[in-house]
Amino acid sequence: MAVVRNTPTASFLTKIGKMQTAECRMCRIAQKARGESTDGVAAETHGHINSAGCEGKAITITAAYHSIWRHLHDSMHATQKPKSKLKFVTIDKECNMSMLWRREEFLRIRSKEELTEKARDIEVTIPVKKSQEARYNLDPESFVENRFGGRRPDGVAINEALQIVYILEFTVSYIF
Ligand SMILES: [Zn+2]
Repeated sequence: MAVVRNTPTASFLTKIGKMQTAECRMCRIAQKARGESTDGVAAETHGHINSAGCEGKAITITAAYHSIWRHLHDSMHATQKPKSKLKFVTIDKECNMSMLWRREEFLRIRSKEELTEKARDIEVTIPVKKSQEARYNLDPESFVENRFGGRRPDGVAINEALQIVYILEFTVSYIF
């Protein structure tokens, strides 16, 4: 599904003087259709057209991402041995860290307070998005805590015997 490296992009064609602009044509069409300004349209590079950041490919790439992850997740689940102590927790769209830590099996491993305390050390190192700066400035500590509580992992597995919670995150990378 990825656009391969030898496909010429607008960025490349502009560089060799075969096109006037490096702008992504798909993003331009999408922005124009919404009646938005087409100033500052993203450059059409391989990285861009192979990412969900490209408006022309976002739906396809997101659907492929979910489909691959579902397959991987189900395969891991299906290949478990009967004696395995690893339990895959079903994650639905609404499930976040806060909700997981209302469940008994998670609370038995670590209290929500202890978890939040540990997570805070990492959360404070993650930059605050521009759109969230006002909320952050109002109460930095609550912001960091809520941001962690609202995180939605792709998947979660738990081993109660060893008291380990595995957070499963699926990332797609493209190699050209
Ligand atoms: Zn684009």
